[in-house]
Amino acid sequence: MVAKGDMIYASANDAGILEKGECGGAVTALLKYALESGMVDAVLTVKKGYDIYDATPPVLIKDPPAELADCAGSLHCGTVLLPKLIKKYLDGAKNEKLAVTLKGCDAKAMYELAKRKQINLDNVVMIGLNCGGSVSPITARKMIADKFEMDPDSIVKEEIDKGQFIVLDENGEHKGISIDELEEAGYGRRTNCQRCKTKVPASAISHAVTGGESLDPKQAMQLSLKYVATKEQHLSRAQQRLEPSKLQHQSPQGH
Ligand SMILES: Cc1cc2nc3c(=O)[nH]c(=O)nc-3n(C[C@H](O)[C@H](O)[C@H](O)COP(=O)(O)OP(=O)(O)OC[C@H]3O[C@@H](n4cnc5c(N)ncnc54)[C@H](O)[C@@H]3O)c2cc1C
Ligand code: SF4
Repeated sequence: MVAKGDMIYASANDAGILEKGECGGAVTALLKYALESGMVDAVLTVKKGYDIYDATPPVLIKDPPAELADCAGSLHCGTVLLPKLIKKYLDGAKNEKLAVTLKGCDAKAMYELAKRKQINLDNVVMIGLNCGGSVSPITARKMIADKFEMDPDSIVKEEIDKGQFIVLDENGEHKGISIDELEEAGYGRRTNCQRCKTKVPASAISHAVTGGESLDPKQAMQLSLKYVATKEQHLSRAQQRLEPSKLQHQSPQGH
């Protein structure tokens, strides 16, 4: 049994979502479940626009799931403040149940708007995204041209990993530069992100999925998730993959 507050590892059941998802597609799988089960009327999320620096206006999906898979993946440059859109264009979720993906700053905006009765949180399923920071599209383009010496239009993927900003171009060339080095040179994350203290919106996911109650692995798998494990199970499996001969007689619990 996985209790509220426990950390679990998960990935999507659907092969398309698994491939397109940023880290295994668990978030998209949860959004899909929310729609298909009737938990919500619509999903509000973002989708790549003209290029990787752009996010299209948020997508409201009422008929899943193909369109939902197109939204999988993280957009680190074209970020949109979704709570403001819920307030302004969706009547503050007063008449419709919504599932929404939120970074830490989005989650804070949700709570502030709810406090002022401009969003009805009872109608919103919030799925939090850990967030190391976002980069302005203009800065990203300039940084890739000046520091990476690559054509910004040739970049098909960017990510922040182990303290590096990493880009991949259409020819498969990878390049990574330390975020510290980039920020000392005046590039890198937005200044707000550099000082942000709410990078993990911990309050968003657990309540959304479990309603504050505990969740067992079988139940979690019914939420369109394929791989669900506690931290201990995950580490044990990872170790088993590294040292199969030593650990072949151990089997993870709960599956
Ligand atoms: C700006 C940003 C920075 C991040 N930094 C980190 C980090 O430092 N460390 C870390 O562990 N994880 C970080 N993440 C989260 C991580 O990239 C994955 O989103 C998360 O691990 C979920 O993976 P997944 O495969 O389950 O998500 P997916 O199944 O790929 O689903 C991701 C969902 O997030 C939505 N989304 C994408 N971009 C945005 C956005 N800008 N605002 C709101 N919703 C969005 C997509 O539309 C999709 O619905 C960051 C995410 C973002 C958006
Ligand atoms: S680092 Fe903080 S302010 Fe920046 S996008 Fe992420 S949650 Fe928002």
